[in-house]
Amino acid sequence: MSKNTYVVGFPRIGEQRELKFSLESFWAKKSEFSEVEKVANGLKQRHWNYQKDAKIEYISSNDFSLYDNMLDMSVLLGAVPKRFQGLKDKELYFAMARGNTQATACEMTKWFNTNYHYIVPELSVEDEYKLNAVKLLQEYKEAKEQGIKTKINIIGPITYLGLSKRVDGGDVYELYSKIMPIYEALLKEIAQLDESITLQIDEPIFVKDLDTKVLSLIKPTYDRLSVISNNINIILMSYFEHAKEATKILVNTPIYGIGLDFLYGKENFDSLDIIAASDKKLICGLVDGRNIWKNDISATVQMLQKIAKKLKKENIFISSSCSLLHVPFSLKYEEKLDDEIKNWLSYGVEKLDEIALISKIFFDGEASLSDEESTAFEANKQANISRKTSQRIHDKRVQQRVSDIEKYERDGTYEERIALQKAKYKYQPLATTTIGSFPQTPEIRHARREFKNNNLDKTSYENEMKKYIDDCVAFQEECGLEILVHGEPERNDMVEYFGEQLQGYGFSQNGWVQSYGSRCVKPPFIYGDISRPKPMTVEWITYAQSKTSKIMKGMLTGPVTILNWSFVRDDKERSEVSKQIALGICDEVNDLQKAGIKMIQVDEAAFKEGYPLRTSKIQEYENWAVRDFKLSVSSAKQETQIHTHMCYSEFNDIIATIEAMDADVISIETARSGNELLKIFAKVGYKQEVGPGVYDIHSPRVPSVDEMVTQIKALLEVLPKEQLWINPDCGLKTRKWEEVKPSLKNMVEAVKIVREEVL
Ligand code: GLN
Ligand code: ZN
Repeated sequence: MSKNTYVVGFPRIGEQRELKFSLESFWAKKSEFSEVEKVANGLKQRHWNYQKDAKIEYISSNDFSLYDNMLDMSVLLGAVPKRFQGLKDKELYFAMARGNTQATACEMTKWFNTNYHYIVPELSVEDEYKLNAVKLLQEYKEAKEQGIKTKINIIGPITYLGLSKRVDGGDVYELYSKIMPIYEALLKEIAQLDESITLQIDEPIFVKDLDTKVLSLIKPTYDRLSVISNNINIILMSYFEHAKEATKILVNTPIYGIGLDFLYGKENFDSLDIIAASDKKLICGLVDGRNIWKNDISATVQMLQKIAKKLKKENIFISSSCSLLHVPFSLKYEEKLDDEIKNWLSYGVEKLDEIALISKIFFDGEASLSDEESTAFEANKQANISRKTSQRIHDKRVQQRVSDIEKYERDGTYEERIALQKAKYKYQPLATTTIGSFPQTPEIRHARREFKNNNLDKTSYENEMKKYIDDCVAFQEECGLEILVHGEPERNDMVEYFGEQLQGYGFSQNGWVQSYGSRCVKPPFIYGDISRPKPMTVEWITYAQSKTSKIMKGMLTGPVTILNWSFVRDDKERSEVSKQIALGICDEVNDLQKAGIKMIQVDEAAFKEGYPLRTSKIQEYENWAVRDFKLSVSSAKQETQIHTHMCYSEFNDIIATIEAMDADVISIETARSGNELLKIFAKVGYKQEVGPGVYDIHSPRVPSVDEMVTQIKALLEVLPKEQLWINPDCGLKTRKWEEVKPSLKNMVEAVKIVREEVL
């Protein structure tokens, strides 16, 4: 075992996504649940062994889950919403996750600022909590039977409550006194498991700005949990940011250790003195658990030495910065990656070896390394040198261009631009449009795949896409939509499509990361300076435009969204990378406009996702995110109308920022979340044009004309008709044509009816 090596948690979906396929087959009633159990047990065993083989000392149990760890926690605490009562075991578990014929699923939402989504607990004052620790205890025993003594992972009460919602109104922390006894009962059961137990309690909420009420819960909670049994060593785990306020409190509780993220929370270094004085263990998150780059082992060891100036060496643990859940499993299956690039990467399994090697060097010195370890250390140094110097990463021309962005500024004020645009394009109030994509049929998916695998030649592929575009255009004309789109058949994904055409972007074959439940995403990665060698969308859009005399809206993804949905290089500030992407998009906007395209939509679906966890860092993010959106459309002439789209409607905190992006038109999700949220636009006197979605595209339901008339009238109560566009909530790619056609026809019909009244 390598001394004091620690892994916060391990991915569970399986190196070949075995869990995903097994679950989906069970859900589709193609296999028995016993199959899922068999697969799950095999995976757990394999995952423990990977960590054991890498000589990791602190390996977790209860980090596995059939769907989500927050959901596991709800089941453990007996926090089951009323509508699921009567259900048990797997039926209950999957009903809460996915809904069943009687009850809708619990909501899910993003886990802090990652792309992982957890199931939101629904709590009410009437709940009767009751401990159900079967899964947790079972997993510990399973590992033990295989000769692995694990630490046990759970989510702490303060985070659990903080991430819950009260269905009966009221504050979640009012339920604190009801939840705590269940935690105490849990610790009593855990204490029975073994002579001594390490319990990792995750409290990631400690990295947010907490109000005094929540802060005041920390000491009593951890005083109380620490005295349950003296054979439990509690490690309080935080990640994704600094936890300075909580650390100050925790050092005065009897817990055993504190886990801090030193990569995404550099301010944690300020806590070293008080941790040293408390003599607690410090789990140092130094190997990146949410990015795919090789650790710079020499630099990490230096950092540890700095920490060791304050803390006793034996109190220092070497750890991943968070659960490895957020990175792909293993590089083993990356057969197509270029060797040079692959040599810069490290996925979950590779990170285990890094942690072990860092520990060896730090505790025993370089001289103690075996031949094999020396070779690995040398290879690590070389890989880091290669990244610092490779021509594929460092592009002088891009750097030059980026250093001089002042000159990129769009012409004209909004008032000047919109006057020109309205005069030129003569669209009426309540102009109808869609968000970009139309249904992705099995045929076009198939064609794209075949083309990618070289089974379909370019001409046949293009013909097929064009045929789809023709159909889209024909349908939109027939339906009476006013501003058309080409339908995005050539795009598998709104980021990957652009990444594939930008210099500096890489793609993995098997870089899957769990997004929620059985769903995984395979984010592309930005390894080098970004540039756009040639136009990316112009041919498709101009083809579509050639098929209609109406306006064809060009469709691009914005820089902030491209950034937020990729693994980003860690040798440059995110704001710099974003700037480079923005310049690429700016070139595209210019080319589209030169080709005669009059309206261009630059989607920023993930603009809000990128917000920092700490309030003090928000301003800086907003500054560069807005700067780069504006930079990406700076080439647009005054009369070229710039649209943007965002997949949410909670703009209360950020409305000024949205306005500062200065898009001529913004379309947003509204139908799903209600018109209440729209009022903020009126309240602040938002001046640009707005397209609040009039129907929810997440459901197969076809909204009636009447319903949409009512919705449009409701919108008119909030915003004047001159400022309103009418469109669905989001892109239609996940829907079927049978749903899309009548829905859009009804939408257009509804606009006609309303116009008759108000124009
Ligand atoms: N233009 C994209 C589409 O319609 C936007 C998708 C999104 O906002 N997520 O699919
Ligand atoms: Zn959307």
